[in-house]
Amino acid sequence: MRIVVLTGGVGGAKFLRGVRAYARERGGEVTAVVNVGDDTVMHGLRICPDLDSVMYTLGGGADAERGWGRQNETWTVSEELKAYGAEPSWFGLGDRDIATHLVRSTMLGAGYPLSAVTEALCARWSPGVRLLPATDDRLETHVVVDSEEGQRALHFQEWWVRHRGQLPARRFVFVGAESASPGPGVLEALAAADVVLVAPSNPVVSIAPVLAVPGLREAVVSGSAPVVGISPIIGGAPVRGMADRCLAALDVECSAAGVAGLYGGRGAGGLLDGWLVDDADAGVVATGLLVREAPLWMTDDAATTAIVRTAMELAGAVAR
Ligand code: GDP
Ligand code: CA
Repeated sequence: MRIVVLTGGVGGAKFLRGVRAYARERGGEVTAVVNVGDDTVMHGLRICPDLDSVMYTLGGGADAERGWGRQNETWTVSEELKAYGAEPSWFGLGDRDIATHLVRSTMLGAGYPLSAVTEALCARWSPGVRLLPATDDRLETHVVVDSEEGQRALHFQEWWVRHRGQLPARRFVFVGAESASPGPGVLEALAAADVVLVAPSNPVVSIAPVLAVPGLREAVVSGSAPVVGISPIIGGAPVRGMADRCLAALDVECSAAGVAGLYGGRGAGGLLDGWLVDDADAGVVATGLLVREAPLWMTDDAATTAIVRTAMELAGAVAR
């Protein structure tokens, strides 16, 4: 059983723990195709928030409380940078985390592609899931907001971390997407997949940038594997994070039905064969796909694995 998961950072990482547990019970293989739209350079270091969230979470090194970064983290370097007045001062980098960015930046500087760097970093963490960046090319999510001189675009991290997502977003632009190609192994993994799962990640800034890599969406949609999505919205709320603000920018209702409409049913030219919603959202209907409901709170690994089991049953029911 080969499972491919399209995923963002924190929500996707939690979900992948359940996918890994499911695959272990059955001797399956898991490949995660991870968003790189949040990636940026700070203090000369290349930061890949979603790849790192997944790698640390699956490798047992993540801070469970904060949801991102390393456990037992210290912040000496960030304090020293602040003392120099070094910008950006709004982005905290933990000391342990910085080691990851140093290794990554050094390897990238020596000419290795991000996919090879990710593999090298994963040799330490043994995530038990193959992590593939959606692309090795530059693809950055920028947010268009109103300003006094009209509209301006800022990097997603600046919008979210510096401005706490408070500036109303008009739209999201995936800079560089047109000329990006799927990372090594991505198309092969999709072609060989038995099931494709769309993690309960942010549909607008985690999943959309993955699908914006030319050829990637087509590979998912034209493949023989059933495609099942798990709703990141429960009872009209994004559980955690900024999905509500992102969906508002697209004029999409923040609901399980709204996101289903955004992805679209494969039977109607969209992405999904199946859509798993929370019990609270029972009764959601969408065109061209099959909807099932189950408890979708990823409260612990057992609950998450149960979600994956239901998603895989749904995949079985919609398989052609
Ligand atoms: P990010 O890149 O760190 O923002 O993480 P993701 O995009 O992978 O996931 C963030 C999304 O996960 C949020 O927008 C939430 O909607 C969703 N989420 C978080 N916790 C849960 C949960 O327990 N259940 C479900 N269904 N969705 C969740
Ligand atoms: Ca992210």
